[in-house]
Amino acid sequence: MADLVAQYRSIRDEVDSAIREVLESGHFILGGYVERIEQEIAAYCEATYAIGVNSGTDALLLSLKALGIGKGDEVITTPFTFVATVEVLCHLGIRPVFADIAPDTFLLDARAVERSVTPRTRAILPVDLFGQPADRKAFSDIAERYGLALVYDAAQAIGARYAGKPLGGFGDAFTLSFFPTKNLGAYGDGGMVLTNRLDVRDAVQKLRFHGSGGGYEYDAVGYCSRLDAIQAAVLHAKLRRLDAWTESRRIHAARYREALTGTRCVLPYTDDCGFHVYHQFTIRHPQRDALRAYLRERGIQTGVYYPSPLHLQPAYAHLGYRSGDFPEAERACREVLSLPVHPELTNAQIDYVCDAIAEFEKCH
Ligand SMILES: *Cc1c(COP(=O)(O)O)cnc(C)c1O
Repeated sequence: MADLVAQYRSIRDEVDSAIREVLESGHFILGGYVERIEQEIAAYCEATYAIGVNSGTDALLLSLKALGIGKGDEVITTPFTFVATVEVLCHLGIRPVFADIAPDTFLLDARAVERSVTPRTRAILPVDLFGQPADRKAFSDIAERYGLALVYDAAQAIGARYAGKPLGGFGDAFTLSFFPTKNLGAYGDGGMVLTNRLDVRDAVQKLRFHGSGGGYEYDAVGYCSRLDAIQAAVLHAKLRRLDAWTESRRIHAARYREALTGTRCVLPYTDDCGFHVYHQFTIRHPQRDALRAYLRERGIQTGVYYPSPLHLQPAYAHLGYRSGDFPEAERACREVLSLPVHPELTNAQIDYVCDAIAEFEKCH
């Protein structure tokens, strides 16, 4: 599903020298390398400010905290996402309110969100799942109409665009993850908050550093959540390759589409509004588990993101949801299958996957 060693070999000289530079500098936490990558990624996403933190999870936590959302508040989000999106809400005493996904895109359905707004709702937290941007226009309209904050979890979507514009143009904040398998991955954990709001920038900068503005004075109860200089240097070395990697993912996706048209695979939906960066190439298949086993026997790794919706996970049983509450999210969990789409794949490998799917369908 990813070939991080092949990728490292293709960029070894730049990465090694970037890491060596940090080692020679003796400066390992925040500092000049982190400031440089913050500026570069802010410019890349066309956001005014970027604040490097420990992980994509902490980027969400600190964004919501910086917006003043907490105990007793409700935030509306999707049950069909990575668990981090929801766990941070619980840590802040926020009640996660789920709304169902749209079946074609797997993304949070704006109409379902609007039906879930209550007097306690403070924010909407859509996820740009699989690299496809959530509906920026619909969510901006709802946020404005009800006076809600808007935070996008863009952990899977660096480089995505909506209506031709990079992600920096939308919402109160959005968050990135540099987990190694993400489209822009570090060699360890890392994440970033991006925002056009100076108050959010200032608050996240303090929160990531124990609530301190620099000295030993604390005006907020903070966290220890900083991006480190080695990860910043790795990201700097990799960032100039990102557009080419995204292009490879999109070319791979187009090859899959062509070869899989006419099969029982339901291909990922896209429209003219969103520029999809294919963190995952996720199909639906009526015989998902049998197909997955068949591919595995032929040496083909696939992923099921995600096998169970968050409202049915034991950890979130206290929220009181039941099976059947979000039928589209539940159906997606039974049907989705992510095929390898990382930039290092070859055409021959993609053709091998598609041939295997065609063979499976012939006899099932
Ligand atoms: C990866 C991911 C996160 C968390 O990022 P980490 O850097 O692993 O903390 C959050 N949300 C989504 C949708 C993700 O895919």
